[in-house]
Amino acid sequence: MNDKMSQLYQQVLLDHNKTPRNYRELENADQESLGYNPLCGDKYKVFVNIDEQDIVTDVTFIGDGCAISKASASMMTNIAKGKHVDEIDSLYHQFHDMVRGKLDPDTDPNDLGHLKIFAGVRDLPARVKCAVLSWHTLNAAIKGKEKVSTE
Ligand code: ZN
Repeated sequence: MNDKMSQLYQQVLLDHNKTPRNYRELENADQESLGYNPLCGDKYKVFVNIDEQDIVTDVTFIGDGCAISKASASMMTNIAKGKHVDEIDSLYHQFHDMVRGKLDPDTDPNDLGHLKIFAGVRDLPARVKCAVLSWHTLNAAIKGKEKVSTE
């Protein structure tokens, strides 16, 4: 990634952190899950509504944590909304592989789009769990698990 790109990505990250999208409780949510990353102290609750066709019609989150975890949760809710649970599952695995350095978003086939801004996390092993926490929690909420920890 060149300097201009990384600056842009930094800005997007800061923007999502300062003004997180879909940051609210979802009343009458179909499912919800609490995710915790004890390594960093990130804690988020993710709420989802899923229709009969297994489409996630709404997804929101509340909670607190570091900048990476919050920006990741914010961007995830934007991207997951309106998608089929199978698509979300696939994105979750691609994202997980990317931040662990198993998938290169520039050369390997993927549907990550804007999520590529988290590719740099692969060079920060201690932050991998911060980046994947919200995805982990959304996945758990979809599967009906009430609590999940990165440990
Ligand atoms: Zn964190």
